[in-house]
Amino acid sequence: MSRVSLTLHVDGERWRTHLRAMVAAHPGLVPVAKGNGYGFGNGRLARRAEWLGVDTVAVGTPFEIDDVAPRCGADILVLTPWRPGSPVDLANPRVIHTVSRADDLVALAATGHRVRVVLERATSMLRHGMDARTLRAAAEFATKAASLHLEGVALHLPLALHGHLDEVGQLMHDVVSAGLGGTTVWVSHLSDSELRTLATQWPGHTFRPRIGTSLWLGVRDALQVRATVLDAHRVRRGEAYGYRGRKAPRHGHILVVSGGTAHGIGLEAPTGDLGLRSRASRLARGGMDAAGLVRSPYFLSGRQLLFAEPPHMQASMLFLPGSGAVPDIGDEVDVRCRFTTTGFDRVLID
Ligand SMILES: *Cc1c(COP(=O)(O)O)cnc(C)c1O
Repeated sequence: MSRVSLTLHVDGERWRTHLRAMVAAHPGLVPVAKGNGYGFGNGRLARRAEWLGVDTVAVGTPFEIDDVAPRCGADILVLTPWRPGSPVDLANPRVIHTVSRADDLVALAATGHRVRVVLERATSMLRHGMDARTLRAAAEFATKAASLHLEGVALHLPLALHGHLDEVGQLMHDVVSAGLGGTTVWVSHLSDSELRTLATQWPGHTFRPRIGTSLWLGVRDALQVRATVLDAHRVRRGEAYGYRGRKAPRHGHILVVSGGTAHGIGLEAPTGDLGLRSRASRLARGGMDAAGLVRSPYFLSGRQLLFAEPPHMQASMLFLPGSGAVPDIGDEVDVRCRFTTTGFDRVLID
C-alpha cells in the first residue's frame, strides 16, 4: 500500500454533477483555472473545461497559458492585464488579453499582431482598470485600430458584502457612454440573482461570469483531504522530541503524518479567543494549547490535533496526549486546509 501522501479525494459523480449544473445555470460561464488550480491543478481543470464544452477559460497569468492550452480547445482569457514585456505569444489567436491602461492598448496595437482585447474598467476593488474617461478614450482607440479586436469589458468586483447592483449599474453607464453598448461584459463575484437582474436591466449585453471557487470547490463535502500516519512514537512526559529537543508536556504519542510546508501546511495561530466555545474545544484537545502547542489542520475522528512542533517540509509531527486509541501506521487522518494554498501529492477522483 503506497499511501504515504497528502491526497485530495473527490467524489467524482457529485463533483461532475455540480460542474454540469453550474454550466447549465450560468450561460456563458467562464471557468477560471489559475494558481494551484484550486487544488486540482490547472491541467486537470482545463480537461474538465473541455469536457464541459465551454468556449472560454480564464487563467490568472500568462505563465498559466501553457498548462491550459494543450488540454482544451477553448479560448483563453488572461486575467492579469497585459503589460509591455508580458511573456505571452501575441500570435496565438486563442488568447484574449485584458488591458487596463490606455498606454498598454496603444503599445499592443503597435506590435503588428492582430490581438483580441478586453478593456478592464476599475471597480471599487481598485485592483486594475481604467476610470470612465480612460475607458471612453480606449474604446474609441480600440474600435479604430485595425489590429485590435475588442471582445468586451471586464469588471472585477469585490466579494459581495451588500450586493453589487448599484455599483455595476454605474459601471454599465460608463460602458454605454464609452460607446460600447451591447458589448460582452466579463464579470466576477456576482450572485445568480444579480446576474439575472443585470440581464434584464441591460438587455442586448452579454454578461459572462468568470467563476473559480464556487465552480470547482462548490460542493465541499464531495472533497476530502486525507493524510497518512507515517509513524507513531510513544513519549513520556518530559521526554525530548523534534528538531529543537522540546519536552513532551504529558504522556502521549508523537504522530508523524504526511503533509508539510512543501504542501502549504502551515502553523495555524492559536486564537486569543477565550470564549466558552473556544474553551470547550480547548478541553476537547486535552488542554494542550496551554503547553504552547499550536492547533494543526489535522483531525482524528473529528478531534483537532496539535502540532508537536512546526511542520517540516514533507511531514508534520503532531502530539496526541493521553493513552487513548492511537492510529496505526498507514491509517488516514482528515485534513482541513485551504484548497487554493495547498499542493496535494495526489488528486483521486472516483
Ligand atoms: C480569481 C478571479 C476570479 C474567480 O474568482 P473566484 O472567487 O475563485 O470565483 C474572477 N475574476 C478575476 C479577475 C479573478 O482574478
